[in-house]
Amino acid sequence: TIGMLAIDKNGDISGACTTSGMAYKYAGRVGDSPIIGAGLFVDNEVGGATATGVGEEVVRTVGSFLIVELMRQGKSPQEACEEGVKRIMAKNKDNTDFQIGFIAMNKKGDTGSFCIHPGFTYRQYSNEGHVNNPSDSFIKR
Ligand code: ASP
Repeated sequence: TIGMLAIDKNGDISGACTTSGMAYKYAGRVGDSPIIGAGLFVDNEVGGATATGVGEEVVRTVGSFLIVELMRQGKSPQEACEEGVKRIMAKNKDNTDFQIGFIAMNKKGDTGSFCIHPGFTYRQYSNEGHVNNPSDSFIKR
């Protein structure tokens, strides 16, 4: 999945995501990416979030909506992503060997990300030409 969040000079936020779905998926599987609230959610009063990983788990928790609601309650994008992933993992104590990750951005343009596997990074671009590649944040097993 490729998820994108953008904020313009007026502070308006937009988002998009695209995916090839899961490997070996059965015909007709939809996944989380095309479902607003699951793979992607933007509330222009709060911020936006988008997900990657096992879509069934993201749908089950309405994951991107959850991240935006956590930001609405005052969490930073980073805190919201961490909380969202941890909630999903808490529901799957018997099997945590799957990928879930979120990126998020709030109205100030602050960003965050969290994933249960190492190797998850996101890139940040701005008009100043600044390119930032924040270090991985993930749950160590
Ligand atoms: N989230 C996607 C899906 O479940 C898969 C992915 O992130 O690669 O369809």
